Amino acid sequence: MSDTTTMEQLVSLCKRRGFVYPASEIYGGINGFWDYGPLGIQLKNNVRDAWWRAMVECPPIGPDGQPVQIVGLDSSIIQNPKTWEASGHVGGFNDPMVDCKECKSRFRADQVAMVTFLVNGDEVMTVGAVCDSPEVAVDEAMSSLNSKNRRRLEKHGDKLVSVVKTVEQLPAGETGNCPKCSGELTEPRMFNLMFDTYTGAIRDENAKTYLRPETAQGIFLNYKNVLDTMRVKVPFGIAQVGKAFRNEVTPRNFIFRSREFEQMEMEWFCCEEDVPMWYEFWKQQRMDFWCKIGLEGDNLIFRDHDGDELAHYSKACVDIEYRYPFTAPGFGELEGIAHRGCFDLTQHQTHSKAKMEYFDQPNNRKFLPHVIEPASGLTRGTLALLCEAFTPDEGRASKVFMKFKPSMAPVKAAVLPLVAKDGMPEIATQLYMQLREKHMVEIDIKQSIGKRYARQDEIGTPYCFTIDGDTLDDNTVTVRHRDTLDQERIPLDGVAKFLDEKITG
Ligand code: ATP
Repeated sequence: MSDTTTMEQLVSLCKRRGFVYPASEIYGGINGFWDYGPLGIQLKNNVRDAWWRAMVECPPIGPDGQPVQIVGLDSSIIQNPKTWEASGHVGGFNDPMVDCKECKSRFRADQVAMVTFLVNGDEVMTVGAVCDSPEVAVDEAMSSLNSKNRRRLEKHGDKLVSVVKTVEQLPAGETGNCPKCSGELTEPRMFNLMFDTYTGAIRDENAKTYLRPETAQGIFLNYKNVLDTMRVKVPFGIAQVGKAFRNEVTPRNFIFRSREFEQMEMEWFCCEEDVPMWYEFWKQQRMDFWCKIGLEGDNLIFRDHDGDELAHYSKACVDIEYRYPFTAPGFGELEGIAHRGCFDLTQHQTHSKAKMEYFDQPNNRKFLPHVIEPASGLTRGTLALLCEAFTPDEGRASKVFMKFKPSMAPVKAAVLPLVAKDGMPEIATQLYMQLREKHMVEIDIKQSIGKRYARQDEIGTPYCFTIDGDTLDDNTVTVRHRDTLDQERIPLDGVAKFLDEKITG
């Protein structure tokens, strides 16, 4: 199955089964915004809770054998606009943008590839393609061609070679072609990604504020508050989960790149000498986290940033990348782990005049801590889990099932009376009332059992407990295992323990 088909099927399942809906759909939608349905919010909350647990409630054991110290925070989305001047976002949070002179479409210059097809060194055709990874540029370019042009290329067989350059990489003065209509593109121009708004009744420049483009700055603004009010000592971390907004030039690939999204960020404050040790520590911790919540190790890689790729604040950065269907066989970013140096604290100290230095009592010295930042996308992580779980299976009625790790599944178990009579619904209700005390479970009474199983497969429920005729005789229930379709009988009064062990085990 092609990866485009996989994505189309996944997006359709997400809509059909209540994971993700296009925002404002009845008005034709709004590009780059999505709504999370009942199942989607449940899954997203599970990812968020796993992250919060791994960071704040049960942080990892540090190199000295003791748990590291991390505290939580929930800062405001709108802050004093000076924040974004100090952080460099007003001046530097830009993406290069190109416009099509013909059809007026707008693209990010680093995401439009010019694919030149050559035979014996001679150019046959150049085609523009929008892509998140260079590996898929040639396929994208090919699939955008009409059948006549495709045949023109295919007739060259093995002699056909392709050269891929993003519009950003073209020599000065050379412009690319529009991936939609082949029209000429403008030269790249810088475009600030921050959404602005006005606070208060008067809409002038003094009232201009911004929706935060990252959660990180709220942490730096509160670093001193936390230091002064909590019993923390360097090294320590502050973690935050919340919405961020970026006016992305080309939001695309479902919830991968949207204009409103959620981040999970932790700023780790340490002394400069220890930066290499903590950088390696957090790299490994973060990779382990994604594997632990259900992503396959083979689908994840580390990618070090080249010097010219580093953000304005960053001294070093490594991304954890996931093999999404739309980047395969390549990978796309899931999380970045950056060494931000003491850039942010220095900037806020200079701009606000507030002292940000840390006093190290044992060594009697003052310094500005350096920062390691594991910054991940909660919505992007949710997408990775959805992609990983999507498992076609012609052998079952639903033709596909969502193989979430049980602890991440939106619904952990369904209680299903075989028929809506003979006392079965009553027993099912009793079991449901018991299980829901600890887990997200559903009871479903209507429709044929086959249809109910099919729905549970599609929403990724790992266990179904069926109350049938035998339950009335011997107090046992059937457990249906989502992945293997095996069925076994267990005592009715053992169901709660069974589920506890499966979900936490
Ligand atoms: P990209 O290169 O994909 O634009 P970035 O490097 O600018 O991302 P960061 O600023 O490092 O991203 O943000 C941290 C994380 O936030 C990213 O790893 C990603 O998971 C998530 N993220 C960033 N932008 C978006 C977006 N537009 N939609 C969804 N998630 C996003």
